[in-house]
Amino acid sequence: MEAKRTEIGELGEFGLIEKLTSSFVLQQESSIKGVGDDAAVIDGGDRFMLLSTDSLVEGIHFDLSYMPLKHLGFKAVSVNVSDIAAMNGIPTQITVSLAISNRFSVEAMEELYEGIKLACDQYKVDLVGGDTCASHSGLMISVAVVGFVDKDKITFRNGAKNGDIVCATGDLGAAFMGLNVLAREKEAFKGNPNLTPDLEEYAYLVKRQLRPEARMDMIHELRDFNVVPTSMIDVSDGLASELFHLCKQSGLGVAVYEDKLPMDGKMYETAVEFKLDPISAVMNGGEDYELLFTISQDDFEKIKNHPDIHFIGYMHEAEKGKVLSTKGGNVVPLTAQGWKHF
Ligand code: ADP
Ligand code: MG
Repeated sequence: MEAKRTEIGELGEFGLIEKLTSSFVLQQESSIKGVGDDAAVIDGGDRFMLLSTDSLVEGIHFDLSYMPLKHLGFKAVSVNVSDIAAMNGIPTQITVSLAISNRFSVEAMEELYEGIKLACDQYKVDLVGGDTCASHSGLMISVAVVGFVDKDKITFRNGAKNGDIVCATGDLGAAFMGLNVLAREKEAFKGNPNLTPDLEEYAYLVKRQLRPEARMDMIHELRDFNVVPTSMIDVSDGLASELFHLCKQSGLGVAVYEDKLPMDGKMYETAVEFKLDPISAVMNGGEDYELLFTISQDDFEKIKNHPDIHFIGYMHEAEKGKVLSTKGGNVVPLTAQGWKHF
């Protein structure tokens, strides 16, 4: 009899993680939170220690024909720092592991590390180790990050309460439209190598894709405002997917309002230019690395005038579902497509 073979695509990323890890029982008293949040939480005595890791793989997460290595290094750190931010924590150390094919020179790797260094300076994290090995197929960069958070400030995905206000920082969908612009330029260049890409006009979108910044500034500001979100996640897979995570883990539903979704003007314009739905770019685009969080209504006064925090909806009973109120006054179910690499 042939052994059973299940394609990973059938389960999807989250199904696979669940299948592989569900039989593991935490054995250490200090393991406060294992798989299932933005970072693992470990009891570090006075404070909680946070631990997370994320990899970027050539051909999957980046294309070196438009991703400068310096930006890649910066991005690899940002996406990890973002997961510490999503726990309301402060990152402190990183390790960097590389798998490098012989296409890459020493100078190329130095460029990568310039970006890593810029990020270390910006986020005030120390590079404290890593691993280096050869690869037959391209470049992979894997970063692990450690951070800390006061025990009374930790923010999980599962703490949202009925009636909490849903907040999003910055604007959403721009990184996805940046990717579309870059892919279009690449195709045009293939057709006519004499073309020099004119990306000036799309600079903001391209920057959002190539050099995203983790919103540590928001974590510090929330602290200054004395607001501890009731739940939080970073927006790596698109708003809809992240809302689904908060809802599932908090046992609630959500209503968000189309007219409250934070969108950059150029993002909107470019989506229309590409004949894409801007709302879909927000919902399913991903890689924004903004923060999505919920606050208790009592905290609204403290941050209601913040120019970079947007109040996009509220949590309600699970039975009411996960819905989007459109500008036209319709209430439609949210669909989470997320990013499918498999
Ligand atoms: P994020 O997008 O916030 O980085 P992921 O979606 O990558 O988070 O992962 C979701 C959760 O699953 C996290 O808690 C992560 O640590 C865990 N996880 C992902 N891959 C694995 C794996 N191969 N083995 C164990 N845990 C994993
Ligand atoms: Mg995350």
